[in-house]
Amino acid sequence: MQTERLRIAIQKKGRLSKECQDLLKRCGVKFNMMGERLVVHSENMPIDLLLVRDDDIPGLIMDGVVDLGVIGENELEEVGLERAARGEPSEYVKLRRLDFGGCRLSIAIDKDADYAGPQDLQGKRIATTYPQLVKRYMDEQGVQFSTCMLNGSVEVAPRAGLADAICDLVSTGATLEANGLKEVEVILRSKAVLIQRTGDFNQDKTELIERLLTRMQGVIQAKESKYIMLHAPTECLEQIKALLPGAEDPTIIPLATDKSRVAIHLVSSENLFWETMEELKGLGASSILVLPIEKMME
Ligand code: ATP
Ligand code: MG
Repeated sequence: MQTERLRIAIQKKGRLSKECQDLLKRCGVKFNMMGERLVVHSENMPIDLLLVRDDDIPGLIMDGVVDLGVIGENELEEVGLERAARGEPSEYVKLRRLDFGGCRLSIAIDKDADYAGPQDLQGKRIATTYPQLVKRYMDEQGVQFSTCMLNGSVEVAPRAGLADAICDLVSTGATLEANGLKEVEVILRSKAVLIQRTGDFNQDKTELIERLLTRMQGVIQAKESKYIMLHAPTECLEQIKALLPGAEDPTIIPLATDKSRVAIHLVSSENLFWETMEELKGLGASSILVLPIEKMME
């Protein structure tokens, strides 16, 4: 059933929801999150947001019920493998990786246990929310194991005597440490991704998706870039340019009165570190400004 409006499934509440809503807003999609609604209509574009649990997003895409979705690769791949194993549709199109939701899916064991490699997990029981991804990894390693499926509190399973090891999402490692565990294998590095259902789209939707993608590109690129301005002595111009990240073609502007100095403006794909700023100053640069960029289009 092809709907008039573009349907985008996003996580209702959790680690992906704020950044996902911010991204859409920065792309110019206006909407108002109020109350406990499942569907939120955009006020200025033919877009409906479906607010659901992240577990449901891959299935909604794979069944073709929504057009786009934002989901962590960990969840996407797990559900895809599970559906494929059951013979259900598991196709989708990955439109782009996003710049949030970064984490890794790792195997962890008792911090005092010896570990030389995956073969040390032979015959062990691994507690996880991601049995399919664990199986794929262990099969690749040729190691036999058993699982203990848990949807929460995975990290306490070894202490509770439910499992010998765990496989869970890690970002800083603090939770593992607090539970007396150490990370021994990273089986997947995950980020949030924008995915699309397979099948046909009418002309209007195709154009809208293209527009959203171009805007997302601009928003993400802008977040990673900085606008750098400084004044520099003309005789040190080359040395100063060499210190600036991505300064192939900066704009050089003469100053109103001081003819021995120029202003340099450039868009850098990286931030300028304090150390570099200090070096620039050492070469005689002054009025060094590093500004955030809100949007860009190439
Ligand atoms: P829901 O109620 O929607 O099912 P959830 O509890 O399953 O939510 P969250 O904890 O909100 O999920 O995490 C959503 C996604 O955020 C994860 O699947 C993962 O892709 C990403 N993520 C990023 N960092 C972490 C982390 N440290 N721990 C867990 N997930 C993380
Ligand atoms: Mg979930």
